[in-house]
Amino acid sequence: MRNWQLFVTGEGIVMGQHDQSRRIPAAVLGATGMVGQRFIELLQGHPWFELVALAASEQHGGRAYAEATRWRLPGSEMPPSAAGLSVVACKPEAMPGVKIVFSALPGEVAGAIELAFARAGIAVFSNAKNYRMAPDVPLLIPEVNADHIAAIVQQRKQRGWSGCIVTNANCSATPLVMALKPLQRQFGVRKVLVTTMQAISGAGYPGLPSYDIVDNVVPYIGGEEEKMESETLKMLGEWEEGRGFIDAPMVVSAHCNRIATREGHLECASVELERDASIEEVIGAWESYLPEPQRLKLPSAPERALLYRTEIDRPQTVRDRDAGSGMTVTLGRLRRCPILSYKFVMLGHNTIRGAAGGSILNAELCVSKGVV
Ligand code: NAP
Repeated sequence: MRNWQLFVTGEGIVMGQHDQSRRIPAAVLGATGMVGQRFIELLQGHPWFELVALAASEQHGGRAYAEATRWRLPGSEMPPSAAGLSVVACKPEAMPGVKIVFSALPGEVAGAIELAFARAGIAVFSNAKNYRMAPDVPLLIPEVNADHIAAIVQQRKQRGWSGCIVTNANCSATPLVMALKPLQRQFGVRKVLVTTMQAISGAGYPGLPSYDIVDNVVPYIGGEEEKMESETLKMLGEWEEGRGFIDAPMVVSAHCNRIATREGHLECASVELERDASIEEVIGAWESYLPEPQRLKLPSAPERALLYRTEIDRPQTVRDRDAGSGMTVTLGRLRRCPILSYKFVMLGHNTIRGAAGGSILNAELCVSKGVV
């Protein structure tokens, strides 16, 4: 976590030294799962948010988190402050005083639960697919479309609630959109063809049976290609007051594959640019990219949103997924494409940048802009 200068008071965000006693009470829904555990890990010692409640399905019946689940994240232990919390039901009344919830719920149940929290006046930062494409819900990557948080005002007005729902993108769309944004801004992007190699943690826990994935590649992930193709256009599109979200004028075609890595989605893309650019210009567009979270120095923003590696065989999943504490998207192998303009490789950490870390950064952006 970086040093930072903004802090939260009753009056909003001000500059200066942070007062830990005024952190915003936050909860994690789906706290026992893969993404839920990442949330718990990343929220430890967070300067703005204090994790005060954990929730999952009612099967846990209020047992302590340490009894209800096994910690599965490599390289860390279950934080003692979480171990003693009771696992409560995913209901607003089960967590009085909570102002922000981070949702790591499966799509099958997220819809109704997240709605109940927003209606109860709580800001919901969701990883689930349910509201991503809703016409009044931001599908947010702060480095890409920070201005889309303007949709929250319309959401509150239309739905008559004081809470809100903000979603983050599918874990495979996230690195693609982050890589495309500087290219779109400087050269224009017309067509994208992308093939993913996605880690097994992307399927949650326990995910695929080992017999189906060890020594194997599965060339199908239900709904994933459609999500990459549609979410990319929403995120790279515009929000216009009175008109809503307008898709970016480009076309995306995705092939999604599940492979036997644990974390990190590697993706190979070819893109057609609107105006020709040299290799140096394309790399320069990525390297000089300094978007909003980095300018604001938000607590979870990595120093560099994008990192271009010059080695011929990078990025590699196991070597590069933890760049920027899992929040940096690593790029490499930029070369001319004989069919479209350029081809390259990118890598993003699916449970950090593509899930929990991305959601926390969304919440930081909303707090820093005074929306939450
Ligand atoms: P997961 O490991 O299967 O965890 C699911 C969580 O939801 C568990 O805590 C589970 O709690 C809880 N849950 C299940 N049914 C429930 C119910 N009826 N009521 C309340 N809680 C319930 O899944 P995951 O991989 O963490 O994914 C969580 C969400 O994030 C999904 O929407 C997924 O699409 C999205 N996402 C995942 C990734 C990734 O890389 N994994 C990336 C981006 C987005 P119990 O212990 O009580 O069953």
